[in-house]
Amino acid sequence: MKKRIAVLGSTGSIGRQTLDVVSAFPDLFDVFALATKGYLDIFEKQSKKFSPSVVSIADKEFDPKKFSRSKILSGPDSLIKIAQNPAVDMLVMSIVGTAGLPATIAAIKKGKTIAIASKEILVAAGDIVMPLARKHDAPLLPLDSEHSAIFQCLQGSAGNKIKRLILTASGGPFRRFSKKQLGKVTAKQALAHPTWNMGPKITIDCATLMNKGLEVIEAHHLFNVPYEKIDVVVHPQSIIHSMVEFEDGSVLAQMGVPDMRTAIQYALFYPKRQARDFGILDFAKIGTLNFEKPDTDRFPCLKLAYEAGNTGGTMPAVLSAANDSAVEMFLKDKIKFTDIPRIVRSTMKEHKLIKKPSLDQILESEKWARAEALAE
Ligand code: MG
Repeated sequence: MKKRIAVLGSTGSIGRQTLDVVSAFPDLFDVFALATKGYLDIFEKQSKKFSPSVVSIADKEFDPKKFSRSKILSGPDSLIKIAQNPAVDMLVMSIVGTAGLPATIAAIKKGKTIAIASKEILVAAGDIVMPLARKHDAPLLPLDSEHSAIFQCLQGSAGNKIKRLILTASGGPFRRFSKKQLGKVTAKQALAHPTWNMGPKITIDCATLMNKGLEVIEAHHLFNVPYEKIDVVVHPQSIIHSMVEFEDGSVLAQMGVPDMRTAIQYALFYPKRQARDFGILDFAKIGTLNFEKPDTDRFPCLKLAYEAGNTGGTMPAVLSAANDSAVEMFLKDKIKFTDIPRIVRSTMKEHKLIKKPSLDQILESEKWARAEALAE
């Protein structure tokens, strides 16, 4: 029997790479639904290729004739309808930001398996999402390479306590830049990531180390590990995708060529490992793996993320949303690279914390932070 999947956010970087993995195994997967916001030319090609039963398009400009073979959903509840559909075996959640949060919760309540790439969902609402997933026995499989690595290192370790999670960071393209140089970098420079090929928002987040900060919060929720037991190490080659240290001092690392599709394929086939050639690691050729401490003086976003995580409540949502706005302004050349952490910090400072927020309060805080950061 084919696994029937729904890919929400299919035109983004993770969505496209998910469909690339799926297309390599046409006998094993059936694409039941695809959802996008914009990028209609890519979406049209995807729809033609995979003939999904349902498409969701959050863009009023589309031509329904081009999607006549699928049932078209376009209202605000369309993602939830797909997430709840009994025909869906696995939901791939790869929408940037928290737009997929209600659909994620709907899928959890149906006990569905969710492969999750949208780290903002766990950052903003991990305290709500994770207990709910445990209650409904809904597996959350990480698509983020670091979290996939940790998840893989934890296989077969049931009952053994984690001493420390070690997330690796590439360090981004400005790893060696001075503070003065960082003040002058352009969006174009920042978009040239040394090892991973990703969308523009996350590429900037890698350059500021905010991506790693969001991943620390994501790891805290996914693996139920306190922040003081989560470390970050800069590892420019991106060969080790992350590590787990156990109580006996043993450290397990997951390694591989830096290709997101390996993490995606692991989740799609979990718990099985499916043969596929993504290239091999030639250790003799690589020669050396380097590690260094992240410099939070030059890259304060990482420290801000730990602060937000430790504060908890609505603060991680505020961190993430303020960062969204700041990155948006940086990409439009409206602010400097070094303004990003400054704006995030001042938005966090202005925020009136809610310790145990409801979902609505989280979304309200996000909205507030977005506007507050833009008004800087
Ligand atoms: Mg990552």
